[in-house]
Amino acid sequence: MEFRQHVSLAPFTTFEIGGPARWFAEAATEADVEAAVDFAAERKLRLFVLGGGSNLLVSDAGFDGLVLRIALRGVQVDGAVLSAAAGEDWDALVARSVDAGLGGLECLSGIPGTVGGTPVQNVGAYGQEVSRTICTVRAFDRTSGKWVDLSNADCGFAYRRSRFNQGADRDRFIVSRVTYALGQNAPAAVTYADLKHYFKNRGAAEPCLQQVRAAVLEIRLGKGMVVSPQNPERRSAGSFFKNPVVASSELPRIAAAVDVPEAEVPRYPAGTAAVKLPAAWLLERAGFIKGYRLGAAAVSSRHTLALTNQGGATASDIAALRDAIQARVRQLFGISLEPEPVWVA
Ligand SMILES: Cc1cc2nc3c(=O)[nH]c(=O)nc-3n(C[C@H](O)[C@H](O)[C@H](O)COP(=O)(O)OP(=O)(O)OC[C@H]3O[C@@H](n4cnc5c(N)ncnc54)[C@H](O)[C@@H]3O)c2cc1C
Repeated sequence: MEFRQHVSLAPFTTFEIGGPARWFAEAATEADVEAAVDFAAERKLRLFVLGGGSNLLVSDAGFDGLVLRIALRGVQVDGAVLSAAAGEDWDALVARSVDAGLGGLECLSGIPGTVGGTPVQNVGAYGQEVSRTICTVRAFDRTSGKWVDLSNADCGFAYRRSRFNQGADRDRFIVSRVTYALGQNAPAAVTYADLKHYFKNRGAAEPCLQQVRAAVLEIRLGKGMVVSPQNPERRSAGSFFKNPVVASSELPRIAAAVDVPEAEVPRYPAGTAAVKLPAAWLLERAGFIKGYRLGAAAVSSRHTLALTNQGGATASDIAALRDAIQARVRQLFGISLEPEPVWVA
């Protein structure tokens, strides 16, 4: 394995932003992962694990440590159980599951990044989350120095959260393989409003897995939420803010802040006496509408929740837009928006 110095990180991120890594290496095997951990320990370097770079904002100064890009490959199918190495492309795996007639991942079509990135923030979209299908995550435990096989319960999954990105165990594990238990001949999942609407308009009562995958890709393309050269809004990290959960008792105050009837505040149930608010609605009401621009950083013209690099933006430009949005939403609604992408500095 080669350890290179001063490698620009921008080309490894979907934002196409970021300064250099002091050290950079690619792990193609589990032995490479161990060698990289040893390399960093010997030199007292911080170690950052890089997947597809689709949920990151790398600072302009870069990362003064070792960036380890996960490039382990290999997929195994055993009946309805799909096991993939962490460096495999996520969307290619979803396509493969759909082609094999295995249900459970079809709504997660078109999400960029690697297999190893999916358990980290419990990737979810259009009514599915990987926490519903992951059965084991194989990872190197940097605390014990051993390889471990974590069960679904061990991963502590919640909305956009897991043991891998929260609390004391954040950054403790380097994922090498994820195993998903899928449904053989399972009906395709059409629970999300956008998808229901799509199929209702086309008169398709029971769409198959392929049809759901195609629909999700089409809806995503319309919202500019795919990384493709044809998409002018492609330089982003997807949704930039998590949807906040607030007490239901807060709704009258939130409605009054923007002078609308309480019934007009969109919300989804989120446990006892709590609701989840669409962050996109808060942004729009706070004046950050589609296409809002601050220098070379902008709110996507197709999707309010995606902050984009319009070409030549720096991490500071994106951070300035992030800060402006957070400050205004806090001032207007008293809500602190939590960014979804990981800040790398
Ligand atoms: C256009 C677009 C659309 C998106 N849509 C969605 C969506 O619908 N739903 C959704 O949930 N997300 C979405 N995302 C965000 C992103 O694609 C996912 O979070 C993805 O799973 C990140 O994977 P990655 O390999 O790119 O991880 P990276 O961005 O490289 O890393 C993200 C975090 O995971 C850690 N990590 C990555 N790989 C490993 C590993 N092998 N072991 C340990 N830690 C690791 C990193 O250290 C970092 O903390 C979108 C992003 C974009 C650009």
